[in-house]
Amino acid sequence: MPDTDGPFECAACGTTVAFEDARRIKTMGGLDPTKWQTLCCSNCGSRLRTIYVGE
Ligand SMILES: [Zn+2]
Repeated sequence: MPDTDGPFECAACGTTVAFEDARRIKTMGGLDPTKWQTLCCSNCGSRLRTIYVGE
C-alpha cells in the first residue's frame, strides 16, 4: 500500500497535516488532474506529496 493516507509532516514549517486538511492542487508537469493531485501544507502551502487518486 502506498503511504498516502497521512498525516504528512511538512518539511518546510514542521506542521503535521491530516490528509483531509491538506490543500489539493493540480500537479505540475501535465499529469492528468483526475488521476493525480498534489497535497500541500495547510499552513505554509509547501508541497507535501503527489498522490494517485484514480481507480
Ligand atoms: Zn508547511
